[in-house]
Amino acid sequence: MALTRIAKEFRWEMGHRLPFHEGLCRNLHGHSYSMRVEIEGETDSHGMVMDYYDIKTIVQPIVDMLDHAFLCDEGDEVMKEFFHTNPMKTVMVPFYTTAENIAAYMLGHICDALAATPSSVHRVMIRVYETEKTYAEVERVFTKDK
Ligand SMILES: [Zn+2]
Repeated sequence: MALTRIAKEFRWEMGHRLPFHEGLCRNLHGHSYSMRVEIEGETDSHGMVMDYYDIKTIVQPIVDMLDHAFLCDEGDEVMKEFFHTNPMKTVMVPFYTTAENIAAYMLGHICDALAATPSSVHRVMIRVYETEKTYAEVERVFTKDK
């Protein structure tokens, strides 16, 4: 059986900083992020790997949670103190907010959701663009019995 790949793209605006960084990335700044969710599997009797609507149902709530938020790593005491006295939309995460880690975070959420439903998905790939020209990509390959 041939494998087929489908993809859906998402966009959001988000602030972050990398406190360990010695260059510009330690400053408060933001990006217009975009993300490609690619799913590979066998087509079903309707000719679909997965309904695009179902991909959106899984991914859009996470994107909405991040949109116009500041993604703050739990170890960033400077920003934690700032947001404590100036409440704004923040999402706390236990990792440095690099594109690599954001892609892995997204992959974890999406694979958890997929694992809860029967599907013929063989592989999930997430590509997070921090700018038009830079991205990080992670993937998980499912074994036959998941
Ligand atoms: Zn950045």
